[in-house]
This record gives sequence, C-alpha cells and structure tokens, in this order.
Amino acid sequence: MIYIFVSTLSLLVLLSIVYFKKINYKELKYDSELSKDIETLGENVEIATDILKMHGNNHTKVENNKEKNAKISYYDHSKDKIVVGGFEKSEYTRIINIAHECVHTTQNKKYLVMNKVFSNLQILYFLFVCIYFFYIDSKELKLMLLVIQIFIWFITTFVKMVIESDACYRSVQFAKDYLTQKIGQDTAAKFTDKVEIKVYESIPMYFINFLVQGGIMAIIAQIIALIS
Ligand SMILES: [Zn+2]
Repeated sequence: MIYIFVSTLSLLVLLSIVYFKKINYKELKYDSELSKDIETLGENVEIATDILKMHGNNHTKVENNKEKNAKISYYDHSKDKIVVGGFEKSEYTRIINIAHECVHTTQNKKYLVMNKVFSNLQILYFLFVCIYFFYIDSKELKLMLLVIQIFIWFITTFVKMVIESDACYRSVQFAKDYLTQKIGQDTAAKFTDKVEIKVYESIPMYFINFLVQGGIMAIIAQIIALIS
C-alpha cells in the first residue's frame, strides 16, 4: 500500500509542477490588430448562435454564464444548452472558446454521456471509499478498492481527453470558417496563425489537469486507507 501511495504522490507532484508552471503563464487575449476586428462581431451569444447555424444546428440553446465575472463556458448535453463565459468583446480568443463549445454539440452523444457518468462515478466512488475505509480492517480489501479507484481515474481521464482533444482540434476550423464568412479570409488567416499553436499546446494541459484532479482524490483516499 505504501508503494502505491509513493508512486501516486510522485506522479501528482510531477504533474502539479508542470501544471502550475503553465497556468502562471499570462495568456495573451488581446492583439492590437485582431481585437479591433473581433470587437465588431457582436455579443458572445450571437457568435455562438451564428456558428451553430453554420453547422445546421437550430436546436441548441445559448445563454450567458450568469455567475458574476464567470469566464467559464460549457456545453450541457442533457439540456442541449451552451453557456458562454463573459468574455470581453475585444478578447480575440473568445471566438476559439465559443467555437470549442459549438464543436461539443456535434460530438457523439454516447461519449458525452460516458463523460458525465465517469466524472460522477469518480467523485461518488471517492466519497464511498473514504467512508468505507473506517469500517474495514482488511488491508487486501483496502488495496483492491484503491486499485479500482486508480482504474476509474484513468478511464475518466481517457474519456475526457478524447472529447476535449477533439473539441480543441476542430475548434480552429470552426472559428476560421466563421471569421471567413463574417470578416473575410485575410483576418481569418491572421487569426488562425495566431491561435492555432496556442490551442494545440493547450491539449496536453487538459490532460495534466484531469490527471491532477483525479490524482488529488487518489492521494486523499490512500492517506485515509493508511490511517484508518
Ligand atoms: Zn470542452
């Protein structure tokens, strides 16, 4: 059990170092040339609705994230609804963020359902073992439960990665098509040059982020297993 604890902890520390180093990096959201053009494109909800229409989607609802200062955007497949973050009009990266959520609406629903099921299972299983460990003495049983948790952790990360890498990858084309139609090929090309690499670079960061989230739960459960 100590071995499993030490290896999970080492992995988590390593991933956290990479993760926190990267998020300290101040991302450029504004560009003297691009921001001026992007600013003319209207509200975030309007942009999302237009991108969806371009892909023949008239059913997905779009609304603003009503939380104060909430910059987070997401697609809720059970309600078929996109919630867009409160991006400023001059943030040129808002187009890629909105396009990303629009890609999610085109993904296979089975993967989206699987994502939700595993994300919930990961949390529920974590809570279950944390409580259950106090009622069992068998080291073998504890070890088996911890191994199952690690198994759920990796499957959850894998499912999330399939969905997010696909959304990141295709969002560049979605944004480019939209900008070509709205402001023209030149601006669309300039935009793609600027964001493409940034978007592809963010894919491994998603992976590390999901691993860190599950890893923290694995470490807490392992500590409880050792002390209970
Ligand atoms: Zn996403």
